[in-house]
Amino acid sequence: MIRTVEQYLKSLDDGREVWCLGEKVRDVRVHPTIQSIIRASAMDYVLPNDPKFHDLFVTKDEDGEDINFLLVAPRSSADLLRRRECFITGMRSLGGIVLHCMGIDALAACTVAATRMDKQLGTHYVDRVEAYRKYLQKQDVGITGAITDVKGDRSLRASKQVQHKDFYVRVVDRKKDGIVVRGAKVHISATPGANEAIILPCRAHADEAEKDYALAFAIPLNARGVKLLAVEPTMRLTEEEAYWDYPISAACQPTECMIVFDDVFVPWERVFMCGEWQFSRDITYAFAIFHRLFGSSRMSAELETLTGSAALMAEYNGIEKYEHIRNKLAWLAMYTESVAGLSKLACIDCESAPGTDLVVPNRMYANIAKFTFAENLHHAMKLIQDISGGIPATVPAYKDWNNPEIRPYIEKYLAASAGATTEDRLKASRLVKDYCSSYHQVANIHGEGSLAAQTMFLYFGANWGKYKAAAKRVAHIKGWQEDPVYGHLPEPEIVVKLPPVDKSYKL
Ligand SMILES: Cc1cc2nc3c(=O)[nH]c(=O)nc-3n(C[C@H](O)[C@H](O)[C@H](O)COP(=O)(O)OP(=O)(O)OC[C@H]3O[C@@H](n4cnc5c(N)ncnc54)[C@H](O)[C@@H]3O)c2cc1C
Repeated sequence: MIRTVEQYLKSLDDGREVWCLGEKVRDVRVHPTIQSIIRASAMDYVLPNDPKFHDLFVTKDEDGEDINFLLVAPRSSADLLRRRECFITGMRSLGGIVLHCMGIDALAACTVAATRMDKQLGTHYVDRVEAYRKYLQKQDVGITGAITDVKGDRSLRASKQVQHKDFYVRVVDRKKDGIVVRGAKVHISATPGANEAIILPCRAHADEAEKDYALAFAIPLNARGVKLLAVEPTMRLTEEEAYWDYPISAACQPTECMIVFDDVFVPWERVFMCGEWQFSRDITYAFAIFHRLFGSSRMSAELETLTGSAALMAEYNGIEKYEHIRNKLAWLAMYTESVAGLSKLACIDCESAPGTDLVVPNRMYANIAKFTFAENLHHAMKLIQDISGGIPATVPAYKDWNNPEIRPYIEKYLAASAGATTEDRLKASRLVKDYCSSYHQVANIHGEGSLAAQTMFLYFGANWGKYKAAAKRVAHIKGWQEDPVYGHLPEPEIVVKLPPVDKSYKL
């Protein structure tokens, strides 16, 4: 089924325990700052119901019923490209995939790991995951994905932590009808607007000692013992002010939560891994690779706005024809399209997930896309700040602009190019101010995994054999002949015979 926005909003009135700024939130839908993420999350239900986007977001299940395409496991490059298109469309709309982005990647990771566990261990996880998938599809449930543990001392494994043993979510009791889990996940996006969460481990496990942490399950966010501790909002302003002063943050206020599991009961049918520590790596890596695709798609859309804000500021300041400004804008365009191109390539050149009939985005391209984005973001910010001048730092606020005594001065003296109104210049400056603030910089570097996480993938995923064979062949070192790519090439001696060299040249 495809839920209406009204049905979705009603579903959030479910008695969940949410906290924000030290207060218990009675209703997330009317909370002054959390409301913003609810509005953005509701776009997940606006777009599939909009005839213009129906064909993109909606597909049929085997019963011929309409379901959200994002809840279908990807089985081809075309599926991944369509997912990417959904992500980009959702981000361009400032919502539209906010709820489903983490959860569907966690769901796909569960399918990959469950298939392998069932084949190798004789478990029956696939049945549970697919039953859960069907439930999500039939009820059109909004899911988030909670992977990042609070972790404690990063240099210590879960079971070796000193202060306590709950820095990684773990099973503390195994009952006949289910398990009891304890711990906390942190930085979990869009949580107040989600109905349920899929919980996965965030790292591989080395041995049997870690088995209680090898845990994947799904849980409704109103389950007993689940506590949602929302982060402080970026700004605490009225809605009208917020849109003028911080347009991007107001459209989608950060509302990550720490999700605390205070001895929460999970029935067995919602448990997708429990103790199979050898497969923690599979589930974590599968999630990461799917989520890099979401990340790079999200970023493609976000970069369009960032690059656009620089172009607007150049135009409004009357500097768009200067060569150094054009060079900077050209770099921003190259950056934007590189990330977009790489994420598309990750779908086109996808890989099959071994042991399953699923496909995963190409590991190298998906990681390069995310890395390219995060690695260059601060340089992009620097260029945008440079192009914009000092105005984003000192731009008047909504209340200044709306004061009739001072507005004429602002209007007169903060005008620039005759082609733009002062108001538009101020609005663009507020956008730059909002984007170049520390919240978004940090979020974009660390969201979907730190830079180190991509380099790890890149190092282990790179075809070193091929690169070394290339070098060996040129350097006449033995060992390239076995390589599947270079081994087919002729010996690197001079293959084409020419007449003898004219020795009269003085070299
Ligand atoms: C805005 C935002 C939204 C997010 N949304 C979600 C979400 O919806 N769901 C979710 O599950 N997660 C989410 N995340 C979490 C994100 O994936 C993590 O922030 C990221 O993986 C880094 O983990 P961390 O914050 O614990 O930092 P840390 O792990 O503390 O990383 C800090 C530094 O320490 C290094 N480091 C850490 N451990 C080691 C080690 N053992 N060896 C070597 N170096 C190490 C890291 O590489 C990094 O350089 C979100 C994060 C942000 C900022």
